[in-house]
Amino acid sequence: PRLANQIAAGEVVERPAAVAKELMENAIDAAARRIEVETEQGGARLIKVRDDGTGIAESDMALALSRHATSKIETLDDLEGVSSLGFRGEALASISSVSRLSLTSNALDDPRAGFRVTAEGRGMEAHVTPAPHPRGTSVEVRDLFFNTPARRKFLRTEKTEFAHLEEAFRRQALSRYDVAWTLRHNGKTVHRLPPGDSPAARERRIASLLGKTFIEHARYIERQVGALRLSGWVGLPTHSRAQADQQYFFVNGRVVRDRLVAHAVRQAYRDVLYNGRHPVFVLYLDVDPEVVDVNVHPTKHEVRFRDGRTVHDFLFSSLHRCLADTRP
Ligand code: ADP
Ligand code: MG
Repeated sequence: PRLANQIAAGEVVERPAAVAKELMENAIDAAARRIEVETEQGGARLIKVRDDGTGIAESDMALALSRHATSKIETLDDLEGVSSLGFRGEALASISSVSRLSLTSNALDDPRAGFRVTAEGRGMEAHVTPAPHPRGTSVEVRDLFFNTPARRKFLRTEKTEFAHLEEAFRRQALSRYDVAWTLRHNGKTVHRLPPGDSPAARERRIASLLGKTFIEHARYIERQVGALRLSGWVGLPTHSRAQADQQYFFVNGRVVRDRLVAHAVRQAYRDVLYNGRHPVFVLYLDVDPEVVDVNVHPTKHEVRFRDGRTVHDFLFSSLHRCLADTRP
């Protein structure tokens, strides 16, 4: 199982940012209201994610680290319209096979309760011992790839790895405004984001994550047609080139990099006034989960719409209209 997990890890865990993403998604799936991410050396030395979610019962602790153990779906039918971010039960098993992982959790309201299970690159035969923890879960991942030197060699500089990790954090924080988030690196607070779902609170969060320039030069969009709803901020032209890669598109709360979506957005911008410029945007598309398959691949962020044409046209016309409105 160790080798199988390490092979699976190759798909899911390519770098510290990917580990952080999986741990943050687990915290969200556990209905956390507060998620704290602590990192050292770009995440290569430490990634710790602490949440105040439902916690894991003692009897499920060891299981959480074993492959294909997921508490999130029970039958194949559940795969239709799955709403949790994880459902394969592979992340923790994979990560624990290539790191020193400890999972501490408490599913009770008694703060003296709680248990810890650790795995040092074995991913199996976990030992569960009592360890007090407030209600919720902490996962600590140390020394990523310590036992797979070939993989470790592919890690880039601390700065680059942390940039990827921060980007993963940004995407999560932009997908859940109702959650309080913090990100720390080498003992310093990089982001501290209070919860708040109002438009003003959202704009504050976006300003803090993406910079004031973006939000000051953005236009709010909100449009619903039938079962499709689009909302968010589209950037207007600025003279800054620094924001070239600020493109965030979420489908039902999940960040997506999708060709159909990219095409519709690009067309709308190109058609109006953004010739040659990189569009910047934070957009949320909400659709009936039945008409979209977001789980095509665990890491590629693709979606498959049942009726791609309709979605494409809806995106294009909504954005086109919004951008055309801004034309002087
Ligand atoms: P998946 O998320 O696909 O189910 P994971 O390997 O990420 O698989 O996690 C395995 C299981 O461990 C989850 O199904 C869940 O029951 C439990 N788990 C992991 N992280 C947390 C967390 N932060 N809070 C509560 N339960 C968790
Ligand atoms: Mg998961």
